[in-house]
Amino acid sequence: MVSEFELIRKYFDRPARSAALGVGDDAALLRPSAGMELAVSTDLLLEGRHFRAGADARLLGHKSLAVNLSDMAAMGAAPRWATLALALPAADEAWLDGFARGFFALAERFGAELIGGDTTRGPLAVCVTILGEVPHGLALFRAGATPGDDIWVSGELGGAALGLAQPGNAGAVQRLDQPEPRVELGERLCGIANSAIDVSDGFAQDLGHILERSAVGAVVEYERLPKFYGANHEQVLSGGDDYELVFTARQEKRAEVEALSRELGLALSRVGSIQKGEPKLQILGRDGAPVSPGRGFDHFAA
Ligand code: ADP
Ligand code: MG
Repeated sequence: MVSEFELIRKYFDRPARSAALGVGDDAALLRPSAGMELAVSTDLLLEGRHFRAGADARLLGHKSLAVNLSDMAAMGAAPRWATLALALPAADEAWLDGFARGFFALAERFGAELIGGDTTRGPLAVCVTILGEVPHGLALFRAGATPGDDIWVSGELGGAALGLAQPGNAGAVQRLDQPEPRVELGERLCGIANSAIDVSDGFAQDLGHILERSAVGAVVEYERLPKFYGANHEQVLSGGDDYELVFTARQEKRAEVEALSRELGLALSRVGSIQKGEPKLQILGRDGAPVSPGRGFDHFAA
């Protein structure tokens, strides 16, 4: 059985590249770039609540970082550094090896460096904090939506929820277990979008956060929503865990958004518009009749 310190050294201590000091001391040291603001975000994943007991370690390593990278994307920030707090029931080396492989594969792809963390024995839990950089004054907020803005969605909605409902649907399960954070899109939207959020709790609920924060309403056309093949109405509107970006941009930006979509090879669908008035979301069917969104995810809902 490895000790706590051997475990950290073996699986999580990688040489610091851009950090002035990484894993191994009492704290890491960072040198933020001139002219940039730091974006910081944390997500806590608990066994039995955010992932099922016995979940594949490599996939969990991927997802625990992916959800944080997605928050950077939604702010328009470039991921730079991450810390990892782990509670583990045992020092299971096969598990640690898988987890580290999933985590570092994604970290390397997006240029995020693991610079520290904490490791303790306990019921399995993974907490990642991520730090990113965004040019001063250009971060994307939930509060920036303006009446007349187009509403855009990346990729497709409902795949992760479909994967949860249909464990035999490999394509949908992939969306659930290995979400692809839209980091490049988020960075490129600085200067184009007025507001953004990532879809973690469901399209209707997450767009609702933009509406609340921006004190505006919205009309969305159900037909225009990009739907994962086979996903039903509720999975599309209220399924969580897709980690697509929902953003708003002035109509004058349409050509720029479309050019960006082609450049990134990522579908960007224009699904509705921001309206003056109460923070209410209206979803209209083909006949113009309202469509009910169902309910997005809420940890404390009855
Ligand atoms: P301290 O007692 O000061 O909390 P630790 O012994 O917990 O220090 O950690 C030693 C070093 O290893 C620190 O630099 C810490 O950031 C790092 N570390 C601990 N656990 C992890 C982990 N799971 N991933 C990355 N770094 C870790
Ligand atoms: Mg510690």
